[in-house]
Amino acid sequence: MNFLHDLADIFYPTTCPGCGKVVDRDIVWCEDCLKKVWNPRLLNSSHTDHLHGCYTLCNYEGAVRKIIIQLKYGGRIDRKRAFPPLLTRFPYWDRLEDLSLVMPVPLSKKKWESRGYNQVDMMFEDWMKGAGKNYVPRGLIRFRSAETQSLLSRRERYENIKGIFHINHGMEVRGKHILLVDDVYTTGATMESAAHELVRAGAAVVTGLTIASGAM
Ligand SMILES: [Zn+2]
Repeated sequence: MNFLHDLADIFYPTTCPGCGKVVDRDIVWCEDCLKKVWNPRLLNSSHTDHLHGCYTLCNYEGAVRKIIIQLKYGGRIDRKRAFPPLLTRFPYWDRLEDLSLVMPVPLSKKKWESRGYNQVDMMFEDWMKGAGKNYVPRGLIRFRSAETQSLLSRRERYENIKGIFHINHGMEVRGKHILLVDDVYTTGATMESAAHELVRAGAAVVTGLTIASGAM
């Protein structure tokens, strides 16, 4: 196995998503590029009516912003390799020890069909499964997308996205601690709306985790 990996490294070296420098296959990022974006934190004001706060790993800028956009809109599935090393470094896993399910914020059916995948699964699924966590890709269903959010105020965003998520048929969340994962946290309206539905269905606690955020 190691021999094959060594060969792969010679022919297909792993390069840093920020600067293109050849890096260790397991770390993916060069220290300089990671240092520029790495800022793990519990986001201010992210504890909303139904969301028990949201953590993020990076600032939404530089290399991390670039690769999220490439994976989301550019079909660059190979970019998924950049995310597990970030999750491994997350310093607050001890605060989430009691979680029983991990669920991505879903795409609408239309968006899923045109993109072919949910980029959030690409970022989190392999790592979560490797860490022994129960990752449920289709725990929630989304009735429509809300791509026009950027022109709305925070209040309007909450209104715009209210009620667009629904728990999937047969999904049992009662009494469970759920980690809701997404690519980017902006105002928290999406997270709050998805958490609202999970709490309505009986979830005990819903905590958020995103790859990046421009919020404090
Ligand atoms: Zn770099």
